[in-house]
Amino acid sequence: MIALGIEGTAHTLGIGIVTENKVLANVFDTLKTEKGGIHPKEATEHHAKLLKPLLRKALEEAGVSMEDIDVIAFSQGPGLGPALRVVATAARALAIKYNKPIVGVNHCIAHVEITKMFGIKDPVGLYVSGGNTQVLALEGKRYRVFGETLDIGIGNALDVFARELGLGFPGGPKIEKLALKGEKYIELPYAVKGMDLSFSGLLTEAIRKYKSGKYRVEDLAYSFQETAFAALVEVTERALAHTEKEEVVLVGGVAANNRLREMLKIMAEDRGVKFFVPPYDLCRDNGAMIAYTGLEMYKAGIKFKLEETIVKQKFRTDEVEIIW
Ligand code: AMP
Ligand code: MG
Repeated sequence: MIALGIEGTAHTLGIGIVTENKVLANVFDTLKTEKGGIHPKEATEHHAKLLKPLLRKALEEAGVSMEDIDVIAFSQGPGLGPALRVVATAARALAIKYNKPIVGVNHCIAHVEITKMFGIKDPVGLYVSGGNTQVLALEGKRYRVFGETLDIGIGNALDVFARELGLGFPGGPKIEKLALKGEKYIELPYAVKGMDLSFSGLLTEAIRKYKSGKYRVEDLAYSFQETAFAALVEVTERALAHTEKEEVVLVGGVAANNRLREMLKIMAEDRGVKFFVPPYDLCRDNGAMIAYTGLEMYKAGIKFKLEETIVKQKFRTDEVEIIW
């Protein structure tokens, strides 16, 4: 079977075409902004403008036509309302025009589900992106969030810190590069609160220390990463201990970071569990993960009536019953 997936919860519009075990196409375009941050209006215009050319590109790359598609999936939430509506409207229009079934997919769940295309069965997922930071895993028939950020996403924290250092956007890769030259660990507020995370205190203190002029920026970048990532690894490890699961996956845009990968790998090896990171184009926001999850849902008998395709800005991870 073949599924078409449209992703558009935030700044990236992505269109993916997949079968049960293969990505046939996965194309995207990300709205570029000077400073990062949330721009609902621009994201909406961006998605609306690029839908048609990206769809054409995806079909071409996959070597299929709309008639070959078995199910149309779209990112139903969580995300920016106006951006979500562009994507849902496009998915509905395609479903009506080509008389295809349609399913709405939870974005956070799709980030983890795509790892199953690679033989992962039942992982604990660390999902780290600009706006999201979550540790999630299946418990019974639902994904449960074991820990999440109480304020900003780790990606945003890195972006804001980089901006203060005058490094531009996106900041994550720039902080990573700078951190490689760090020599000394500078104490910063640790980000774990119970099972949850909080990065705003860490961010404020790192900026304050930078402005004091008393510290090397390389050391600050290094210490920022060490402190934030240690917190992510701690919460992930506790979720693994609680669930006794044997796989851990790293997904989301921040999964590009090699230091974070290394720290998680060490933790996984210590615990004797498998560690997996999908290829980067399936880690970042993308249509293939939506298509894949939609396909699994459809095969399990899930089909949405048109009135069920309304977008859910605050779509919770534990709202979806996982019957596939
Ligand atoms: P997403 O929100 O999933 O589109 O991912 C974008 C986020 O990933 C931005 O906040 C980037 O700064 C961050 N990011 C990208 N590459 C890296 C990296 N190498 N290290 C840390 N963060 C990164
Ligand atoms: Mg995402």
